This record gives sequence, structure tokens and C-alpha cells, in this order.
Amino acid sequence: FESLGNKLQDILDRVGKERQLTEPQVKAAMREIRMALLEADVNFGVAKEFVAKVSEKAVGQDVSGSLNSGQTVVKLVHDELIQTLGGKSMQPELKAEGNVWFMVGLQGAGKTTSTGKLAAYYKAKGRRVLLVAADTQRPAARDQLEVLSKQVGVPVLKVADGETPAETRRRVDEHLKTDFRDLVIVDTAGRLQIDEALMDQLADLQTAMQPTETLLVVDAMTGQEALNVAQTFDERVQVSGLIITKMDGDARGGAALSARSVTGKPIYFAGTSEKLSGLDAFHPDRVAGRILG
Ligand code: GDP
Repeated sequence: FESLGNKLQDILDRVGKERQLTEPQVKAAMREIRMALLEADVNFGVAKEFVAKVSEKAVGQDVSGSLNSGQTVVKLVHDELIQTLGGKSMQPELKAEGNVWFMVGLQGAGKTTSTGKLAAYYKAKGRRVLLVAADTQRPAARDQLEVLSKQVGVPVLKVADGETPAETRRRVDEHLKTDFRDLVIVDTAGRLQIDEALMDQLADLQTAMQPTETLLVVDAMTGQEALNVAQTFDERVQVSGLIITKMDGDARGGAALSARSVTGKPIYFAGTSEKLSGLDAFHPDRVAGRILG
């Protein structure tokens, strides 16, 4: 972040040169930081709150040491971004058996693809995975998951049109009686926009399935909209963790910061390609760097 550091250094020097960062200096620097965050597609409110938090820490910081004032501000911002994104890489907890994961998100976010990726990821770790294709909204989704399940080599249970959540639960339980599986991953219906009927449908299936994790899949390219999506899903179906997809695109990571900030839930994985292997642990430090440009 040398260029950002140098730019800030110039700005700070113009405002004053002290051994400690002064309030007017921090104020001037934070205008730049806020702009950088907005350019990275961080939600406006989240950016504002973030800047206020860093400002508080920055005022009075010693700048007589090895870092100049610009570098000091960049380091503070970088550290705070990492903290806001969760600090370190985290994974969902898995019990020996009885794990049920519920995948939710808008249509096109990458739910079905991520479901297949998770199956491959956990199968490689020795888990016995069962997929449930419950995306009754998008006609091709259940077939898409079936194709993925064959590629991964795990069974899939396809929900029929008109099937009730209780029936789905019963069919899953029946399956598990004859074929032991310790991780059941349920791909659910999404719509292009937040929709009350969809949320009701999701909540009903969630009640029937009693998932141990509810994972919200957020498209990194949705930028500003990510906050609203994350907030609404969290309110309606109590999200326990996040997966950010399409991080291989040119999205800067603002969606991740917004979704994490508004829900306070850990980001477990990042989608990095369309392929089944394109799932990585989420690394807050890498994404913090990307947000700063
Ligand atoms: P769903 O409607 O939420 O189930 O979305 P899909 O899983 O069908 O994904 C929508 C599109 O995004 C598909 O073309 C996927 O191949 C693509 N996709 C999903 N995840 C990623 C990712 O991490 N990177 C890239 N480049 N494409 C992705």
C-alpha cells in the first residue's frame, strides 16, 4: 500500500507535522480512507462506522518511530479491516455426526455451485456427505446439483415439486437409516430479489430440517446490495456463517466487509472459480489488502 501511504503522508504533512497524529490530520486522512472504501464497494454506512472507529484509535498515535504518519494510518486501517473481517480464517464446527447445513442466498449468488464445492471439500476430508436438492425455484437447479453430486461422488436427494418440508425431512431421515451420512447439505430456493414468500418458504424448510449451520452465500460482485441481502436473510433465517463467491472476479471485497459487519457472522469460505475445486478458506488479511487496493 505504498502509494496509499505516500498519498496520505502528503496530506498529513500539509495539515501539520507533529510527533503524534492530530485530530485535523486524522480527519484529512480519513476522507481518503472513506473514499477508498467506497471505491471498493463497501456500503456507505459501514464505511462511515469503520472510519469513526479507526479515527478514534489514530488520534494521538506516535509517529516519531520507524513508520511515518502515512504508513501509521495505513497500518491502523489495515489492522482494523482484518479485525472487522474476522481476524483469522475460520471453519464451521463439525460434530461426529448429525451435521445439517442449510445453504441460502439470492438466485445466481452461487448457492448450488458452492453446495457442490462444499461436498467435494468435505468428502476429501473423509466426511460422508449427502446433498439435498431443495431449490424448487430455479427449474434447472436440482438437475445441476445432481450433475455436481455425480462429479463429486456423493448421493443426492431431489425434492419433488409440491413436496412439503415435513415430507422432505422424512425422506432425508429415511435415507440416513440405510446409508450413514454425517454431513447433509441442503441447497435451497433463491430468487432474484428478497421476497417475502421466499423467506417464508425458507423458514418453513429450516424449521423442518433443524440445520446446525445456516450458510448465506453472497456474490462478491453485488457490492452495495450485499448489506441489505445479508441483513434480511439474517433477520429471517438466522444466518450462522457466510460464503463469499466470485472472489476471482474484479470485485474488491467491499461486499465481504459489509456482509460481515452487518451480521457479525464469520466468513468461512471464498469462491474462487466456477469449478468444483474453486473453494478456499477465507483469509481476512488477503481481503483487507484487496479492499485497500
Ligand atoms: P444459485 O442460483 O445461487 O444456485 O447460483 P449458481 O450456483 O447456479 O451460480 C450462478 C453462476 O455463478 C454460475 O454460472 C456459476 O458457475 C457461477 N459461480 C458460482 N460461484 C462462483 C465463483 O466463486 N466464481 C466464479 N467465477 N463463478 C461462480
